Amino acid sequence: MYSITAVAQRLGLNVVRGHFRCIFPERHAHGDRTPSVSINEDGGFFKCFVCDEVKGKAVALVQLVMGISKDDAIKWLSDDSPSIIRDSQKFFLKKRAKIEDKPDFFKEKMIFEFLSMLSPIQPYSAIGWWLANRGIYKPTWDKVLLRCIDDYDFISNKLLGKYSLEDLQIGGLFNSYGKLRYGRRPLIIPYIDEKKRPFFFQARAIDKNVSPKELNFQGSIPFPYNKSALDGKPGTVYLCEGSIDTLTLLQRGFCAVGIPGANTFKPEWVNFFSNKKVVLCLDNDKAGRAGEERITELLKSAGLETKSFGLLPEGEDINSWFNARS
Ligand SMILES: [Zn+2]
Repeated sequence: MYSITAVAQRLGLNVVRGHFRCIFPERHAHGDRTPSVSINEDGGFFKCFVCDEVKGKAVALVQLVMGISKDDAIKWLSDDSPSIIRDSQKFFLKKRAKIEDKPDFFKEKMIFEFLSMLSPIQPYSAIGWWLANRGIYKPTWDKVLLRCIDDYDFISNKLLGKYSLEDLQIGGLFNSYGKLRYGRRPLIIPYIDEKKRPFFFQARAIDKNVSPKELNFQGSIPFPYNKSALDGKPGTVYLCEGSIDTLTLLQRGFCAVGIPGANTFKPEWVNFFSNKKVVLCLDNDKAGRAGEERITELLKSAGLETKSFGLLPEGEDINSWFNARS
């Protein structure tokens, strides 16, 4: 059985004394500052005091936070075993607890060094073709600093030459098998701020048999993807689900930012959107529509103007929509 605590942490939720903040904080007083979701570690389930549907086992938690299907949630979990199974939980928590003992910016420094070891995407490479097939071309790749793991063993060894395995595991780059993560997800999409400093990244599969397609760097997501679009100047910004949709819009000259999943928008991010009119273009599926409703409420309560893109047929996302029409 999976450890709910370990799963929640791997999803970037902040677990404090067996509780974490509800993924629908707007339904709670003070944005759920005093966390309402309790974890029953022995029973292997979680439950929100307020929200009826925020409860269940590990699979349900992954589905809720990432907005993915049950099948994908099961695969996501099995992909990350054994670090999140209960038997290894003590080991895992001990390791996790130690990140606080690390110097400031330990994780940030590790992300920076990892990304600087990676190569830019080459035209005519497999990833280059994959992006071009989605209508996303080199000037956009270069602008947002897309990277790839083109030689997995080389990068692994280079990291191991610089850091101890334990540090790489605490930092989140290596799994509990002692291997660099992201082996089957070689497209690395950094989350950079307006000064081009990377604080987070997402690893994306280009092989359609790999599921789920994306794997986030561990820990909390600091800000929406392509944050530099949120410059505080008056204008319209498109809010998409996923970095590929964001890149699709950037390629076509729109101002766009992304969130990694329909439910990953954090209430405090509303502040980043000042002076912007926000057009929501989350996927037209159940998770996407619920996410739009929730984000609309959050933005509106901050006095921001929002509207829904409203053009996506059932089941489509921005990338499939544009590519079917260009
Ligand atoms: Zn709740």
